[in-house]
Amino acid sequence: TDSSDLFGALFEAPPANRTVPVLVPMPAPKPYSYSVPDGMAVEPGSVVQVPLGPRQVIGVVWDGGEDGVDPKKLRPISHVFDCPPLSREMRDFIDWVATYTLSPPGLVARMALRAPNAFEPEPMVEGLKLVGGEPERMTPARARVLDTASDGFSWTRSGLAHAAGVSTSVVDGLITLGIFEAIFLPPPPVVAMPDPDFAAARLEGPQKEAAEEIVTDVRKGEFSVSLIDGVTGSGKTEVYFEAIAETLKRGKQVLILLPEIALTASFMERFQDRFGAKPAEWHSDLAPRMREKVWRQAVTGEVRVVAGARSALFLPFEDLGLIIVDEEHDPAYKQEDRVFYNARDMAVVRGRIGDFPVILVSATPSVESQVNGQSGRYSTVHLPTRFGDAAMPDLHLVDMRRHAPERGGFLSPVLIRAIGKTVEKREQALLFLNRRGYAPLTLCRVCGHRFQCPQCSSWLVEHRFRKQLQCHQCGHAERTPEACPECGTLDHLVACGPGVERIAEEVERHFPEARTIVLSSDIMGGVKRLRLELEAIAKGEADIVIGTQLVAKGHNFPLMTLVGIVDADLGLANGDPRAAERTFQLLSQVTGRAGRTGLKSHGLLQTYQPQHPVMQAIVSGDSDAFYEREISERERAVLPPFGRLASIIVSAETRHDAENHARGMRNAAPQVSGISVLGPAEAPLALVRGRHRFRLLVHGRRNSDMQGFLRAMLSQSPKERGSVQVQLDIDPQSF
Ligand code: ADP
Ligand code: ZN
Repeated sequence: TDSSDLFGALFEAPPANRTVPVLVPMPAPKPYSYSVPDGMAVEPGSVVQVPLGPRQVIGVVWDGGEDGVDPKKLRPISHVFDCPPLSREMRDFIDWVATYTLSPPGLVARMALRAPNAFEPEPMVEGLKLVGGEPERMTPARARVLDTASDGFSWTRSGLAHAAGVSTSVVDGLITLGIFEAIFLPPPPVVAMPDPDFAAARLEGPQKEAAEEIVTDVRKGEFSVSLIDGVTGSGKTEVYFEAIAETLKRGKQVLILLPEIALTASFMERFQDRFGAKPAEWHSDLAPRMREKVWRQAVTGEVRVVAGARSALFLPFEDLGLIIVDEEHDPAYKQEDRVFYNARDMAVVRGRIGDFPVILVSATPSVESQVNGQSGRYSTVHLPTRFGDAAMPDLHLVDMRRHAPERGGFLSPVLIRAIGKTVEKREQALLFLNRRGYAPLTLCRVCGHRFQCPQCSSWLVEHRFRKQLQCHQCGHAERTPEACPECGTLDHLVACGPGVERIAEEVERHFPEARTIVLSSDIMGGVKRLRLELEAIAKGEADIVIGTQLVAKGHNFPLMTLVGIVDADLGLANGDPRAAERTFQLLSQVTGRAGRTGLKSHGLLQTYQPQHPVMQAIVSGDSDAFYEREISERERAVLPPFGRLASIIVSAETRHDAENHARGMRNAAPQVSGISVLGPAEAPLALVRGRHRFRLLVHGRRNSDMQGFLRAMLSQSPKERGSVQVQLDIDPQSF
C-alpha cells in the first residue's frame, strides 16, 4: 500500500469552508446552514454562537451533512464554546420530542440550553499554596494564618483570612514574604460526590424484595421501565435509593424528577443521610448563577445526581444511567407552554434512546402506567403497607346532607369535634381545600352583579388579606370595592363559597387559642417563606394547617394525625373524563399526610356524594376495584391509553376569528379511517387574557398515526393571520 495515502488521510486539513446545519433556539422548522471558518473544529453536538439577523445566538451543530449551498454564500459560525458537545443520545432525544409533539426542534433544543452564559468553562479561582518558611517577625495573627493553612488544603485569600479570623492584609503580607504562592484552582463543585455506600439502608420485608427486583433490572444497564406502586409511607423512596446506589456504582449519572422540588427540603436531607451529600437541584426558583453551574457540571459529569422539576429532563448529562420519576401521576409533569410535553412519558423515551432503566414511583399510579404494568410493558413492584409500625389513617366520609355546617360555615360539627380532640392531644390537623383566597365568587346582594375578570371567562376570587379581587387565569387584580359597580349600593357584596382564607377564619372562631398556618402558593414571601412554614409544621410549631395542594405533596409531618377534606367533591365538578382519577389521586395523597410516624390517625372527607366511586374507593382502601372500573371505561370509550388524543386550541382577539380559523382547520383535515376531528367548540376556558378560544379534539385509535395526520392537517390549514394563534397539545391532560 502507498504510505503517502495513509499520511494524506491522517493529516489532511479539514476541508476549508465546510457547511454545517446549526439548530438555533427559535421556532424554525429545521436547522439553518452556516459555514465553518478555516481552522475552526466543530462536530455534531458542538455548542456554538452564530449570527441570526442582527443578533448573535447560541445554537447546536446538528446532524446531517453538507446541504450543497456554496459556503461563501453562508454566514460563518462566530464561536465554538469550550464545552463538551451534546451527545448523540441527546440530539436524538431532542429530535424525537420535536417530532412527537410537533414542535420546532429549535424550541426543544432551547430547553436543553436553558442556562445562559453556562457554556464557557468557569474561570479558575485564585487560590493560595503554602510554600513554607517562617516570617522573620511572627505576630499572633500570622501564626493563626500559618496554623490554619497547615492542614494541607488549598485556600482562597479571603477564605483563609476568614478561617483564621484575621484581615486579608495579614494574608497579603505573607504572600509578599513568599510564604504563600498564588495559584489557580479549579472552581468548586456545586455539590459533593454522593457515596453509594455512605449509609447502607436496612430494608425490610416487601421493601427488600422490591429493591432486589429493581436493582436486578438496574444492574443490567439497559432500557427497562419499573413501576414502584406503594401506599404513602411504604418506603418507596428507600427502595429507589437502592437503584440510585447501584447506578452510581456503575459510574453513571442519575436524574430524579420530583413535582414540587422547590419545597421538598426534607427530600434533600434524606438523600444526604443515605449518600453523604445532597443532589444538585434544578428548578425555576434556582438563582441564574447556580443554574449555570449545575448545567455545566451535569454536562461535564462533575455532578452525579440531579433532583429537579420536569425541565431537568432536558439537561444534557454527560452519561445518564437512570431516571426516577417520583409521583409519576402528578399533573405538574405536563408542560403546557410552547412545547407541550409530559415529562413522565418523555423520561421513558429518554431511557429508551439512551438504553438505560427508568423507574416510575407513585402511591396512585396513572391509569396509563397501570395499563402498561398489566400488559407487562412495565414491571411493577408493590408495597402494600406502611413502613414500620405506622398504619394507614382511618378514613370516613362525612355526608354533608346530614351533617350540615352552622350558618355561614363550611366545616361540619363532626369535623370540628375531631379537630378539637386532635389539638387537645397536642397533635396536628390538616384542613385541605384546593382553592386559594377567601371566596371564589363575589356578588351583590341587591342587584345580583357578579365580579368577573374583564379579560377572561372566570370569576374574580376575593383575597381578603390583600383586600383584592384576583383572576386566577391571568393574574388581573383589583381592589375589593365597597360599593357595587353596577347598582352603587354600599356594603352589600357577599362572598360565595370558601377558599382557604375563609376556612382559616372559621377555624379561628372555633379555636382562638390554636396556632394556625394557612399555606397556598400566593403566600407573601414566596418559596422561601413556604419552605420555612413547612419546616415549622414538621417541627410541630402549628396545631392546625389549612392548605391547598401545596401541602399534599411528599411532606412528612410527624405529628399530623387528622386530615379533613373540606370539599372532597371539588375536583369532580367539571366534565373531564380524567376527573375521577385525578380526584382519587389527590385525596389519597392528602389523606396520606396523616399518621406517618405510628400515631393513630384519621381522615374525614366532607362530601355530598358519599356513593360516588371515588369516595367509596378512598374509604375502603380498595384502589384496585376503582382502577379496574376506570380502565374498563377508558377502554370502552377508546380514551387514552386505549386511544389517542390531541387538542388544538385556536385563539384570537375576536370570537369570530377564532371560530372561523378553527373551522378552516377542521375542513383541512384529511380523511383517515380510525381518526376523527371533534369540534370546534368553545374551549373549557373560552376567554383568557382577552383572547377567545376554540378547541378541536382529534381522536384516534391506539395504533393510528396521529402525528402524520396532524402534519397533513396543519399543512392544508389556512395560514394563521392577524391575531390568530394555534396551539397543539398531544396527549392533553383534560379532554
Ligand atoms: P413513601 O415514599 O412510600 O411515601 P418513605 O420512603 O417516605 O415512603 O418512607 C416513609 C417513612 O419510613 C420515612 O420516614 C422513612 O424515613 C421511613 N423508612 C422507610 N424505609 C425505611 C428503612 N428501611 N429504614 C428506616 N426507615 C425507613
Ligand atoms: Zn383574567
